[in-house]
Amino acid sequence: MIPTAFDYQRASSLDDAVAKLKAAGGDGKLLAGGHSLVPLMKLRLSEPKLLIDIARIPGLSGVREKDGRIEIGAGTTHAEVASSALLRERCPVVAEAAAEIGDPQVRNRGTLGGSLAHADPSADYPAAMLAVDAEIHVKGPKGWRALKAGNFFLDLFTVDLAPDEIIAGVQFVPVKSAAYAKLHQRASHFAIVGVAAALDVEGGAIRSARVGLTGAGTHAVRLSSVERALAGKPPSTKTIEDAAQQAAVEIEQVNSDIHASAEYRRAMIPVFTRRALAGALARV
Ligand SMILES: Cc1cc2nc3c(=O)[nH]c(=O)nc-3n(C[C@H](O)[C@H](O)[C@H](O)COP(=O)(O)OP(=O)(O)OC[C@H]3O[C@@H](n4cnc5c(N)ncnc54)[C@H](O)[C@@H]3O)c2cc1C
Repeated sequence: MIPTAFDYQRASSLDDAVAKLKAAGGDGKLLAGGHSLVPLMKLRLSEPKLLIDIARIPGLSGVREKDGRIEIGAGTTHAEVASSALLRERCPVVAEAAAEIGDPQVRNRGTLGGSLAHADPSADYPAAMLAVDAEIHVKGPKGWRALKAGNFFLDLFTVDLAPDEIIAGVQFVPVKSAAYAKLHQRASHFAIVGVAAALDVEGGAIRSARVGLTGAGTHAVRLSSVERALAGKPPSTKTIEDAAQQAAVEIEQVNSDIHASAEYRRAMIPVFTRRALAGALARV
């Protein structure tokens, strides 16, 4: 189908993008890689009157380390995240999640900010953002907000972001001992189930763990019963296998669609939780 008619403007800065969104009064949409928005427009599920192109805002993309934290600009493509030497060395789970997204075309156009704002229930980044406890930095007409990933993903395609706000980027303390494991939907590569796990091990025990799950429900969530089952235990295969069993029990409502039944997804949650935890353990 052909989208409804729309105007196009290019934003020159974050402030300019926010001003253009505000002036559009709810009828404007930011355009980043266009890999989620444009298909929606072609199906007329989204009919913005104005597209505000943010792809050329200086400084909106890039991966950098600042004061012991890693910062990824919202305009950074999945391919740039996947191939970042800094992430591969200091926080491989985020690069791994990006490398698992779609195909080369999607990874070369799609952006971190677009993926987070769109919040597809099967998107890969949300699980990784939960595992690294990322802060999402957002700018709007009233200034800056920083939201923990755990408070950002609210529901199906719904995040804590006003129509006149823009995601500028994410920040997190790098975690080496973390990994992502995903069951792909074969055609699109979206996650049927995806789990990102991060372990903090000290003095022969798991001090704490963060486990993010995507693909199973309306939005990505932390698996807190798995995290509790790991805390204080020795970092062993047995600990991981026992803790992973908690994963499926915790999720009450599991998605069922043409790609996988709820029963199949539920069966896969502990499997991929165990694989993500084993990957994290191997990096301790
Ligand atoms: C064939 C195919 C396969 C895919 N497979 C996967 C997969 O395996 N895993 C996966 O996770 N994703 C997958 N995707 C989705 C892909 O990752 C998209 O790139 C991503 O969801 C959206 O990023 P974008 O930059 O293209 O955003 P756009 O499509 O440009 O925008 C998406 C939404 O986010 C808003 N937005 C964009 N940038 C910002 C910002 N900085 N601040 C606030 N709002 C913003 C837009 O207004 C729009 O509402 C796939 C997509 C396709 C087409």
